[in-house]
Amino acid sequence: MKMAREILRCPNCGQILSREERCYRCAGGHSFDIASQGYVNLLIRHSANPGDDSDSIASRESFLLKGYYQPLAEQVRKLVGENLREGESFLDAGCGTGYYLSFLQDLPLDYYATDIAKKAVSKCARVNRKAVCFVGNVFHLPFGDGELDGLMSIFTPYSAEEFARIVRPGGSLIAVTPGKEHLYQLKEIAYERPYYNEEPGYQLPAFRLVSQENVRYRIHLNSSEDIANLWRMMPYYHTTSRQGNERLMALKEADTTVDFLVQLFERKNDDEKD
Ligand SMILES: [Zn+2]
Repeated sequence: MKMAREILRCPNCGQILSREERCYRCAGGHSFDIASQGYVNLLIRHSANPGDDSDSIASRESFLLKGYYQPLAEQVRKLVGENLREGESFLDAGCGTGYYLSFLQDLPLDYYATDIAKKAVSKCARVNRKAVCFVGNVFHLPFGDGELDGLMSIFTPYSAEEFARIVRPGGSLIAVTPGKEHLYQLKEIAYERPYYNEEPGYQLPAFRLVSQENVRYRIHLNSSEDIANLWRMMPYYHTTSRQGNERLMALKEADTTVDFLVQLFERKNDDEKD
C-alpha cells in the first residue's frame, strides 16, 4: 500500500509529524501517543472534556445509525467522489462519530478526521480505519498552508479563515447546514409560533460557490427515543420551553421534513478577487 504523504503538523512547533508505531513525532522531539482506539490527541491546551458530552454523542450516534440521514450522506459521498482525485488529501473537519465519513471509505483518498470531542473521535477512529483521526480544533488545524485538497464540514462550527489557509487553490469544500424546512413539523409541536430557518449557508470569502442544493425529504420517526435523540442533536432543544420539549418527548412517533443545504465551494487563487 502506498504510504500517505505526511502533512500533519506538530501543534507545538509546526514541523511535520511522522507516524511511528505508537505515536506521532516531530523533528523537534514533541510526541503524541496514538490511543488504542487509533486516534491521536493534538489539542495543546486540554480542558477537562471539550466538545459534546457523552450523552449527546451517544444519542447522535444512535440516531444516525438508524439511517434517517442516509440520503444526505450519499449526496455528500457523490460530491466528494466527483471533486476529489485518487491520492488527494481530504479532511472531515468536525467529524463527530464519523457517520458521514464512513460513506466515503471506498474512495481512494488520504483521509483525515478531527473533532474537539475526544469521545467522538474515538468512535470515528474505530469505524474509519483508513482515516487519520485526531482530536483538534477547527479554528486552529495542524496543517500547513494549502496542504489539503479538500475538506467537508457537516453540522459543525467552521472557520472561514482557517479553511482558506489550509485548502489549496482549486481545492474543494463541502458544507452542510440545516435547510429552511428542517424539522418544521417538530417545531410546530414544540413551539407556539414555529418558524422557518434562515438559510445563510457558509460565508467563505476565499472560496467560490460552485453549487448549492437542498436535500429535502420526509422521515417517519418510529419511536420516542428517535424523536428525542433527533431533537437533542439540534440547538432548538436548548431554546425550546420545557413544555415544548415535553410535548415532543411524549410522542411515540412523528413525521417530519428534513432539509439540508448542501454547498460545494472551490478555493480561489490567492490573487483572484471574485
Ligand atoms: Zn514539535
